[in-house]
Parts: sequence; C-alpha cells; structure tokens
Amino acid sequence: MLTKDLAICIRTVDYSETSQIVTLFARDAGKISAIAKGSKRPKSAFDGPIELLAHGKVVFTDANKEKLATLTEFQQQPALLSLHGNLFAMYCCLFGAELLSALTDDYDPHPELFDSFVEFLQSVNGLQTTNNERRDILALLILFQLGLLREVGLQPILNYCANCKTKYDVRNTKYEFYFSNFANGLICRDCEASFADKVRLSATVAAALTSLKQIPNSQEKTLTQIEKVMIYHFTGLLGRPPKMAKHILVST
Ligand SMILES: [Zn+2]
Repeated sequence: MLTKDLAICIRTVDYSETSQIVTLFARDAGKISAIAKGSKRPKSAFDGPIELLAHGKVVFTDANKEKLATLTEFQQQPALLSLHGNLFAMYCCLFGAELLSALTDDYDPHPELFDSFVEFLQSVNGLQTTNNERRDILALLILFQLGLLREVGLQPILNYCANCKTKYDVRNTKYEFYFSNFANGLICRDCEASFADKVRLSATVAAALTSLKQIPNSQEKTLTQIEKVMIYHFTGLLGRPPKMAKHILVST
C-alpha cells in the first residue's frame, strides 16, 4: 500500500554505494525508517541523495514497525543549503532533529510537532544576519525544545516549585530557584535539599523560564544559561548528553 505524507529527514545512513536508509519524521505517520533505493544515483526519484533536514512530500510503501518502509518518492526542499555559511544555525537545526528522533516513538504521529519543527527550520533559515542573530537562533531553539517536551508529554513544571507548589515570584528575589531533572521542573530553596540532582538558576534565568513570553526578548547571556539548563535536562532524559550539545555550548 502506498502512503503519501509530508516528512522531514532527521537521519541518513549510507546503505550501499547507491542507496540510503533514512529516518523520516512524517506529519501523519510519525517517525519511520525507510530505505531509499538508488537515491545516490545521479538520476533518482529523490532529486539526488537525501539530505538531512530536507522536507517535502513523500511516498512510501510497506510501513510497519517490523521492517523498513520503502521510500519511493521525496520532493526534497533542502533546509541546510542556505545554512551552510552559518555553522551555529546548522548545529541548532541538527540538534532539533536529534532531539525529535530521540524523544518520539516510531509510528507515533505528532502533527503539531511536525509543524513546529518546520516552522523552527524556516524561522532559522529566514533570519537576517545581524548582531543579534545568535541570540535569535537560541531563542527559537529554546522555544522549540520546550514545545517538543510538551508534545511528547514531558512538559517541565516552570512556574511553581514542582515539589511544594510555591509559586515563583519574579519580584521576590529572596527565593532561590533550582531546576531538577528528577522533579521535572523548578524547585524552591526550601525543597532543594531533597533533590541531589539539580542546577541553580540565576534570578534572570528563573524569571525567563517562568514567563516564556520573555524568551524572544532575553539577552544572549540569559538564553545561553537557559540552553545549558535545557541540555542538562535532555541529558537526564536521554541518559547521556545529546550528541549536538557540545557544538551548541562550545560556541557560546
Ligand atoms: Zn518547594
């Protein structure tokens, strides 16, 4: 049976001289693995070798959990081409793809998440080169990451203590706040001793995390600190540091 869908390529592996195995995040089907036979031949049904983060219409057959699907068509709209001059932007997009792949299950559809990832890629692609470019990319990455966690049912608790429910009050800076993987969210000063695994948040980071509307307007320094918290959290969720994490923080 032929299935038509929209998809983004989130992983590629060379299978032979001429073929690739790709992981696609498809809008209606969810994450699937498929073989693209002959994709590396000069003339193929895929407009050339399948590129990471390419997105567009796909047709595949034999989709089921037990074996690889066969990709028969992919009208690729490459996302990376325009990013080649901007390594940081490219790393952030690849980080998004890595997290998407790690946190979703095969054949578990998330159409909203698909849309938000396409929007994220397009927004990063569409950024003008300005002094604030890096800050803007980080803000987009953080909002995408938080949306991803919400979509897969792992939304962290960010506006009150995950343990005792004390509300975080921006004006009351006498409260210190921490972020804990184990608590899946913020924890307050009174509770932090019960959580061995935590990072301390500066007042500005806690304020931005508790009011996400502030993120697009936050300073690059604050966003870098938030991204560190996100990477700490993803490391806990995955049980290992995400592969792309070192590229995001090394260059900040
Ligand atoms: Zn508490």
